[in-house]
Amino acid sequence: MTTETPVQPTDSPDSKAYTFQAEIAQVLDIVINSLYTHKEIFVRELISNAADALEKFRHESLIQKGLPDSDRALEIRVELDEEKKIFRIKDTGIGMTEEELQRNLGTIAHSGTKSFLKKMAEGAKEDVNLIGQFGVGFYSAFMVANKVTVETRSFQNDSQGYRWESNGIGTYTITPAGDLPRGTTITLELKEDDAEYSKDYRIRDIITRFSNFVNFPVFLGEEKINTITALWTKSKSQIEEKEYEEFYRFIANAPDEPQFTFHFSADAPIALQSLLFVPKTNMERFGFGKTKPGVDLYCRKVLIMKHPEGLLPDWLRFLRGVIDSEDLPLNISRESLQDSRLIGKLSKVIVSRFLKFLGEQAEQNPEKYKEFYATNGQFLKEGLVQDFMHRDELAKLLRFESSKSEPGKMVSLQEYVSRMAEGQDKIYFINGPTRAAIEAGPYLEAFAARDIEVLYTFDSIDDFVLNNLANFQEKAIISADSGEVELPELKEVETPENAPLPEDRAAAFCEWLKGTLGDHVASVKTSKRLKDSPALASTEGTMSSTMQRMMMTMGDEGKQADAGKFMTLEINPRHPLIKKLEFLRTNDEAFAKQLAEQLYDNTLIAAGILTDPRTLVQRMNQLLSKAAGL
Ligand code: ADP
Ligand code: MG
Repeated sequence: MTTETPVQPTDSPDSKAYTFQAEIAQVLDIVINSLYTHKEIFVRELISNAADALEKFRHESLIQKGLPDSDRALEIRVELDEEKKIFRIKDTGIGMTEEELQRNLGTIAHSGTKSFLKKMAEGAKEDVNLIGQFGVGFYSAFMVANKVTVETRSFQNDSQGYRWESNGIGTYTITPAGDLPRGTTITLELKEDDAEYSKDYRIRDIITRFSNFVNFPVFLGEEKINTITALWTKSKSQIEEKEYEEFYRFIANAPDEPQFTFHFSADAPIALQSLLFVPKTNMERFGFGKTKPGVDLYCRKVLIMKHPEGLLPDWLRFLRGVIDSEDLPLNISRESLQDSRLIGKLSKVIVSRFLKFLGEQAEQNPEKYKEFYATNGQFLKEGLVQDFMHRDELAKLLRFESSKSEPGKMVSLQEYVSRMAEGQDKIYFINGPTRAAIEAGPYLEAFAARDIEVLYTFDSIDDFVLNNLANFQEKAIISADSGEVELPELKEVETPENAPLPEDRAAAFCEWLKGTLGDHVASVKTSKRLKDSPALASTEGTMSSTMQRMMMTMGDEGKQADAGKFMTLEINPRHPLIKKLEFLRTNDEAFAKQLAEQLYDNTLIAAGILTDPRTLVQRMNQLLSKAAGL
């Protein structure tokens, strides 16, 4: 990497200067020039790095016996010099080698695309906390410091000490520093305006507010000022709501309270203690890319791995928190995590209990659950499609508006099934942009006329999920616009007006329609489900037209697929327009043809799948001219 070669000689003969990787230079520019509020978060970021370094060392020392000076206390010390405007933080953690200094404090692990940084920059102006969430917390030191010095020695045998120095603008230097103790000391020379961060009362307040839960003693001067509790190991009755909230803010770098707190322990089939939080915001919805997992793995309060992949299923990546199990080996590696049977068991227990917990929340507090569902429901749907093991549990957590719910209220599949009338053997849903659009469309009337409930899906993802689920408690789930919908015949009082076309004429009419529409339609048939609409388009098979549209857009790009050719046109043989059309086809065939084409296009519009409106507009204009008597 070009950024790793020295660019210029410096004062000390041994010191080498480096340029920051372009992305880091950008981050620094943002930090130095555009972040003015909540600067105090730098304290939390540096303490959290120190704690990470201590956790790593503790872990190493447990799996490799006899590391040099392994008896040094694991702790963090903050030292202040008001006169010289100095903030200093020392840890006895894992330290860094020269190469690690370059890699960790000069480059960014993220792909570092411009768009990512732009988003972070915009986000950070609103909420400085983002800087920590995006793995660039160290650089927050430059919000308050003119110059930052990092002195460090790695825990490894025969490591040398090194000094890293920078003013945050463009370059940094690394100089051998001889015989340093294990760990890292970071010194901030504060800006004039930020001298407050060398004051005892100020720092004390910040640490107790943001870093109270750090797993190692934090000293300010000679005094230990944090309470070290592994909150997850305490019993629920001993924990106050406020402590959960503080712990959440600490562990998730979050500014607010969690949406849900799930504190759970078990003895069998595996001993575990877990404290998991659901955040109120879903960063994926803001275009920040895929959320990284945020649950730490502990064994008897010792961190084994921070945020490992593969601990919980991917679709639970929105959770933040801790899982602790004394049954785990300390030296489990990231690679072996996914194959570990123990982890599999652990995960299964937690996921099932968590889903059960969500189910209870949905019962007890539907409004809150609705908020959760709106922000994080996407993850449940993803799980339902991907994770066969938990599919039934996840299906119970789905929620939809329905023809029998009040607007804005949601129902579960369970509720739907429980109020199905005798004889109904399927669960119906229909997609549309809004409730009003669905209720004005042709599909619903048949169900309304028979008092059958229909679930509304406003997002095509829901159609995909329901299609994938296929059935719930042995009831098939099908789209209301599917050709497989079979509804009981309506008992109507026959009048001359609503009498249907005789069967032979209806059959001949269908044949004529198919001939007229040609390849644009798959088939034409009479339908018993319609009431007030003359016709509707249904799909072949159980797929919904929304799914049909999704499949179409996945095909050849640029080529506008003719959606209609997969559809069945169902006509209402009782409708006056259909009867009139049947009369016109033998009396004014040219006009009848125009009307038939228009009728068909109307059904495609209602189904949301008309792909090319041009011929429709032309024809419509001709019909308008005719209607206007021209
Ligand atoms: P993050 O902590 O999210 O990885 P940071 O920007 O805060 O991002 O830190 C970058 C990296 O620098 C850390 O991942 C770690 O490898 C290294 N680092 C920072 N502070 C320390 C420290 N006190 N001791 C050892 N390594 C550190
Ligand atoms: Mg950090």
